Amino acid sequence: MRKKIVAGNWKMNLTFDEGRQLLNELRLLRLDDDKVEVIVAPPSLYLSQFSFTNSNTLSLAAQNCHDKPSGAYTGEQSAAMLASLKIGYCILGHSERRSMFHESDEWVADKVMACFAEGVSPILCCGETLAEREAGRHFDVITKQLTTVFKRMDKKQAAYMIIAYEPVWAIGTGVTASSDQAQEMHAFIRSLISTELGREEAEEMRILYGGSVKGSNAKELFDQSDVDGGLVGGASLDFSSFKDIIDAI
Ligand code: PEP
Repeated sequence: MRKKIVAGNWKMNLTFDEGRQLLNELRLLRLDDDKVEVIVAPPSLYLSQFSFTNSNTLSLAAQNCHDKPSGAYTGEQSAAMLASLKIGYCILGHSERRSMFHESDEWVADKVMACFAEGVSPILCCGETLAEREAGRHFDVITKQLTTVFKRMDKKQAAYMIIAYEPVWAIGTGVTASSDQAQEMHAFIRSLISTELGREEAEEMRILYGGSVKGSNAKELFDQSDVDGGLVGGASLDFSSFKDIIDAI
C-alpha cells in the first residue's frame, strides 16, 4: 500500500519565528508512521535552521533547485547543496516557477535528474491552465510535462519520485478540482507511468493532488483510489488548517 503524503509549500511566506513555531507544533503531532508522512517546504533560507524537524513522519523539502551542481548562478541553490544539508525532497516544476520564471519541461527534467544524482527525491508538479482544460487539452499537457521527465528516468529512480497534479486553475483560487476530476487525472497519470516506466513502478509511485486543498475537501479527495495525499499551499501556513488536512488521511 502506498503511504500517503501531506506536503506543505509555504512559498515566500512566514517569518523565521512564525515558521519555527509552526514546525514545533507539527512536531508534536502523533502521526502513524505506517499511514502518513508530512513534508514541509519552507523558504530555502530557513532550511539549515529547521533541520531539527526531520523525523520518521516529518521531513523538509526545498521549493526549487538549479540543475547544475555549482557555479556562477547568483541566487540559486543546487541539489548537491540540499543533499549536504540532508534535505530529502525538492519540489520541482511548480506552475508558479513554470509561468513566472519561464521553466520549460526540459529544464524541469534537468533539475529532476540533478536531484536523482544527489539522492534528493523530486516532487514533480504538473498541471494544466483553465484555457487548456476548456480546450480539452489537459491530458496532452500533462502527458508532455511528465513524459519529458519519464523518458530520461530509469526504473530505479522511479522509486524516489513523487508526482503532484496541480491544475493551475485551482491553485490559490479557492476552486478545487472535484474528486472525480482529480481521480480521472490521477488514474491517467498512473497509466502514463505504467507505459513509460513499468507497471510496478506505477503502482508504487505516490501522486498528490494540489489546488485549494482544505480541511473541508481533503477527505473526499484523499479517498480517491489514485490520490495519495496532497500538496498544500495557503492552508499549510496555519497549524490548525494544516492539521485538519493531515487528519483527513
Ligand atoms: C500550491 O501552490 O502548490 C498550492 C496547492 O496552493 P493552494 O493550496 O494555496 O491552492
